[in-house]
Amino acid sequence: MDAVNLDRTIAGAGTGADAWRGDARLAAVPAASAGDLVPPGARLVVVAPHPDDEILACGGLLQLLARPPLLVAVTDGEASHPGSAAWPPERLRATRPGETLAALACLGIDAAPMLRLGIPDGGVKAAEADLAQQLAGIVEPGDVLVTTWRYDGHPDHEATARACAAAAAQRGARLLEVPIWGWHWSAPTDTAMPLTDAAKLLLTPANLARKRAAMACFASQVQPDAGRGADPVLTAAILDRLLNPFELYFHEPARAF
Ligand SMILES: [Zn+2]
Repeated sequence: MDAVNLDRTIAGAGTGADAWRGDARLAAVPAASAGDLVPPGARLVVVAPHPDDEILACGGLLQLLARPPLLVAVTDGEASHPGSAAWPPERLRATRPGETLAALACLGIDAAPMLRLGIPDGGVKAAEADLAQQLAGIVEPGDVLVTTWRYDGHPDHEATARACAAAAAQRGARLLEVPIWGWHWSAPTDTAMPLTDAAKLLLTPANLARKRAAMACFASQVQPDAGRGADPVLTAAILDRLLNPFELYFHEPARAF
């Protein structure tokens, strides 16, 4: 067995898409429909630590539900290009939420309400209690919250999930958590992902193509930063790993690291 990276460090190339696609445990996760995940009449509230996480996490679910969610943008994602002359924080802050709206339009969702909380990118953990309080004022009983996995490895993703869990418990909402960076640091050879408390939303090739097109709307993230000579924040390999023919939702994450 390979070394188990349970400290959740996001470094290097990470686990490849092919490794995950051959995993028997992942293949055995039961399927759920969009209506199973978000019952008729329930409001979907997508809480994104950074603009793009909402599409990376649940671009398939958003298409299949075909009704506008309430989007909560925790940060504006202004820290994705540290030291870049081409992408200083103020440009990212002005650009990235608009990329989310373009991506939603690509999924057939126009005029989704978006609440921008303006918490500093990279500073969600420090603002976690405040975020939980703000979310408790937004969430209503019966809502379904979708956010990133509480053990995703990125501190903003983990803090956002913990705040969502607190608000969901307080308000009587359902919480679904989605791995983004978990696919990178975890591997089929470890058991970090709570696959026994998970459901898969199956995506058709057409769903997947539309999700891919929506991901391409995040020009700030998918194009190289020529000024720095740097790779895109979201490289082709990262995007490929996120474009599974299903989305994975954890519904009872009980594991503690
Ligand atoms: Zn993120």
